[in-house]
Amino acid sequence: MPLLPWRRPPLPSGALWREVVETVAVLRDLPPRQLDRLRELAAGFLARKAITGAGGQELDEALRLAIAAQACLPVLELGLEAYRGWWEVVVYPGAFVSVQRWVDEAGVEHELRRPLTGESWPQGPVILSEEDVWSGAQELDGYNVVIHEMAHKLDLLNGEANGFPPLHRGMERRAWTEAFAAAFEDLRRRIVAGEPAPLDPYAAEDPGEFFACATEAFFECPDLLAGSYPAVYGQLRAYYRQDPLARTGGPEGGS
Ligand SMILES: [Zn+2]
Repeated sequence: MPLLPWRRPPLPSGALWREVVETVAVLRDLPPRQLDRLRELAAGFLARKAITGAGGQELDEALRLAIAAQACLPVLELGLEAYRGWWEVVVYPGAFVSVQRWVDEAGVEHELRRPLTGESWPQGPVILSEEDVWSGAQELDGYNVVIHEMAHKLDLLNGEANGFPPLHRGMERRAWTEAFAAAFEDLRRRIVAGEPAPLDPYAAEDPGEFFACATEAFFECPDLLAGSYPAVYGQLRAYYRQDPLARTGGPEGGS
């Protein structure tokens, strides 16, 4: 439901906000000014999107706020407008089964059932597993299901989730494509060769998954991403208008 322009949503209470910031690793090192901005965005996110439990299951406020806060980190400098066109986050207690059905050229019907921890439907809801929201929030290991699904939502803004979201003025299509294509190929080669992969191997599925996994790494372990794929890091820094490496690498960085 769109907000009336003169009404600001109430901020989450200070105690609850501190609890969430302490629990969610990727938020801990944010400077105070960015945390304040994130708190406002999270309030706006909660006002605009319904975060509901699958099958009417009750969700506690800490979970709803933890989802909203992590969802808003990628759009900290882009604003909630970047999440236009969808209204709902559905939360399952654990991994859920996604069913895809399609008919092939011969007219034969197929059904694929896969257990998932998160899913983003074009123009539809984001679906998350609560268990994975919390496990992804605990450590800075490049695994964060909320950030991953939000990256798909941004990617979907201009059509398919193909690893090519709408770029800002001043960004070059060619530079984006070259950076991502080279890194994608390198990751696939490393996996085939049995070499250590600098990103979640799931990133090698397709360019859309690569963008989502690279976004997780960008926020959670920027040093690893910048060290392995500096051109990708540079493109994501321009796209998200944030420099997480400067946050964690500074003298006050830690934890
Ligand atoms: Zn994905």
